[in-house]
Amino acid sequence: MSLQEVYRQVILDHYRNPRYKEPIPDPDAFSEGANPLCGDEVLIQIKLQDGRIQAISANGKGCSISQSSASLMAEAVSGHPIPQVLDLSGRFQDLMQVPPDGSANGYADLGDLIALAGVRRYPVRIKCATLSWITLEQALGDDSTD
Ligand code: ZN
Repeated sequence: MSLQEVYRQVILDHYRNPRYKEPIPDPDAFSEGANPLCGDEVLIQIKLQDGRIQAISANGKGCSISQSSASLMAEAVSGHPIPQVLDLSGRFQDLMQVPPDGSANGYADLGDLIALAGVRRYPVRIKCATLSWITLEQALGDDSTD
């Protein structure tokens, strides 16, 4: 199986069996994001404790890239300290800016998120992949204001 095929399987798995989709009844922060170009929508809810994302819900509808990215994002940040989460978000969005023929080798720390690197070949879909991260940052930003 080629690396491309492995990545495709990861994305399909998260699309068909999304993680962290269960709504949080009493979230500390939340944000809604939309990508009108593609019709993607995502609702991010979080519970915070001791500066960490104690619980997260990523729920939405849209294309396989946006929905699998939301699931991968939730899996990657659950339980982690906020500064680390913001750093990871920045790293992922950096990766999406690397030209498609450029190497993603320097991004091994992104783990399964690297599966979305192939999206760079379709510039119009990059917003699908980054939507949940931008929405998460909005939710975290909202929290810091209270
Ligand atoms: Zn999309």
